[in-house]
This record gives sequence, structure tokens and C-alpha cells, in this order.
Amino acid sequence: MKAKIAVLQGDGVGREIVPEAVKVLKVVAEKFGHQFEFANSDVGGQAIDKVGVPLPQETLTLAKQSDAVLLGAVGGPKWEGLEYSLRPERALLGLREQLGLYANLRPAKLYDVLADASTLKKDVIQGIDILVIRELTGGIYFGKPKGIEKLAHGGERGTNTEVYTTEEIRRIAKVGFEAARKRRKKLTSVDKANVLESSELWRRVVIDVRKDYPDVELNHMYVDNAAMQLVRNPRQFDVMLCNNMFGDILSDEAAMLTGSIGMLPSASVGAQVGLFEPIHGSAPDIAGKNIANPIATIASAAMMLSYAFKLDKEAELIEQAIVKTLDLGYRTKDIQSTGTRLVGTTEMGDAIVRNLN
Ligand code: NAD
Repeated sequence: MKAKIAVLQGDGVGREIVPEAVKVLKVVAEKFGHQFEFANSDVGGQAIDKVGVPLPQETLTLAKQSDAVLLGAVGGPKWEGLEYSLRPERALLGLREQLGLYANLRPAKLYDVLADASTLKKDVIQGIDILVIRELTGGIYFGKPKGIEKLAHGGERGTNTEVYTTEEIRRIAKVGFEAARKRRKKLTSVDKANVLESSELWRRVVIDVRKDYPDVELNHMYVDNAAMQLVRNPRQFDVMLCNNMFGDILSDEAAMLTGSIGMLPSASVGAQVGLFEPIHGSAPDIAGKNIANPIATIASAAMMLSYAFKLDKEAELIEQAIVKTLDLGYRTKDIQSTGTRLVGTTEMGDAIVRNLN
């Protein structure tokens, strides 16, 4: 197949880890006879330095005209003093909004050899492979009315509104069922239907959407129980479907089960172009030293192949290469332990490329 990929390295370690993912994608394309065209553009602080804004029109146009976007990270101390609307992080909000990305997919997978890096007991977390799907553009973060008002008798009142329409729930539920189909075919819908009407509707619509996915097992869990079950028995989960706020919280909780931020990829998808990026930031404390872990970004590239291009075999090959490389003992500094082989960012990328077979 032919595909155009917008490559936005961004700031800090973004400039080191994205080239490693591109290197892997190039080798995969060659192996399977695909033609990937890579087009670079500026985003975040890098773009501010060049043209004064974090998301230049040229970058946005490129993203919209591409089949997928691969992003590193944005931000850093150099731009922290800027006014909020001009900060590098605004580029992420702009991209989400302009590309209509309403679903955020965050896998939390534990690589067996890294089980010791987690704060939880090995026998609890071994083998976990969870995908948290978070609705990204609705719910309490966007619902109206919102705001803080002064009360006549003194004091103030803060308001936010949790609101979801049938259509918003339906489209995210579909993403959930489709993702479950690609995996172990089990979907847990997280809600608070015992208290919230918006959750009651959420549950009803999810049950209705399931009619088109009879092969996927569906269960419902209240969010407080889900938070508890994630640390008690995380292996019970395959795909967790969450609204914006519940997903915000549970995706971080699930991520932490696996131990290292440098290992975790993400995908944001919508009606058209998807955005694929590691969950971590620009890590200014380690930038420019060739020590950042490129695995989260390489795994994000694998998600791109699977979710944007439906190239599941190719994505699986990358996943397996990551596992093999870790099994062979290669470690960047963040996941290093005794008896392993310490390598830099580029060496880790090279080792993964060698294991693409
Ligand atoms: P961070 O994720 O950049 O770093 C947190 C810690 O994790 C640091 O100690 C860092 O060294 C380590 N780390 C992160 N990625 C790593 C990797 N690949 N390999 C090894 N270690 C890694 O979060 P932060 O320090 O809070 O934020 C730094 C900057 O990044 C800020 O400007 C913030 O706004 C921005 N940020 C951007 C994004 C994004 O682009 N999506 C996300 C979060 C933060």
C-alpha cells in the first residue's frame, strides 16, 4: 500500500525518538512492499522558534493531507514563560480539534522481562495487556454550563456539566468494539450508571451498539470498582471503554501498572487522520544525550500500522521485535537492571530493526 505520513518530531527527546520509529517503519515498508512517504514539519517549541506559533498552518495542512501523523513530544523550559495560548502544548489541542480526534487509545502492556519495574507484585501484573479507550472531545471537560459564579449571600459556586449525546457515545463505543475485535474480544464499559444519568444513557447506547458485535463479550463496571480492580486483578481486562474523565484517570492508573513511561504508546483517532504518539513528554532533563527510550514511539508507529492502515501483520512484527530485543537484554537507562545491556536511543532502534524478522 501507499501512505503519506506526517512526521512531527517536536521538542526535546522528540527529535531523538521519532527518527528511530521512522527507521523501523522504513524497514517494515521494504519488507512488505509498501510505499510510505514521510513528510516532516515543525510543531511545538520548534515551530515557535521558527515562525512564532506552536501549530503553523503549514503543519496543520500537512497533517490533514496525510494518512496519519507521527508525533514526538512538545514543550520544554525554554517556552514555559510564554502566554498560555502560545505555549507548545497548545499545538496538541489544536491538532486534536482540527483533526476531529474523539477517541484516545492507550495500551498498557507489561513486557514480561520488565515485571520487576512495576510497583505491584509480579504475580498480579504478569501478562497484563489492557487497552484503555478514552472519549476525548465530550463529557464534563467540555459540557456547558461551566464556570465559577459569585453567590448573592457570599461565596462562589463552580459548575461543570457532564453531558453526552447518543451519537457521541455510539461512535466511541464502535471504536471500542472494533478494537476488542482485533484483540481478545472482551469489552468492559466503565460508567457510574447507579448515580449519573449521562452514564445511564452511556450504558444503554453501548448495549445497543453491541448488537452489531455479537462476537465481543461485554460487561459493565462502575468506575470506582474499575479503579480498584485495576490494581487487584488487572488481567481480567482486555478493552476498557471510558468517558473523557474516567478515561483520563484510569488510563494513567493502567499505565503505571507497567512501570515505565518510556514504553507506552498512544493513538488518537477520529473520522479521518489519526495521530500516534508516545504518552510521555519531551523529557528535557535527558534530551540531547542519546539516552531516551524510543520504544514508546516505535510502539506508537506499530499502532499506526494497525489502526490507521489496517496492517496488522506488520504491526505485530514490530511488537515481536520489541519483545525479542528486550528478551536479548537490551535496555535504555530508564528500564535498566542488573545483568542487562545498557544501550542508547539509536542503538535500541538499531537492535529493534535487526529483530524485525
Ligand atoms: P515527561 O514525560 O517529559 O518526563 C517525565 C519523566 O520521565 C522525566 O524524568 C523524563 O526523563 C522521563 N522520560 C520521559 N520520556 C522518557 C523516555 N522516552 N525515555 C526515558 N525517560 C523518559 O514529563 P514532564 O517532565 O512533566 O514534561 C516535560 C515537558 O513535556 C513539559 O514541557 C510538558 O508540558 C511536556 N509534555 C508534553 C507532552 C506531549 O507532547 N504529549 C506530554 C506530557 C508533557
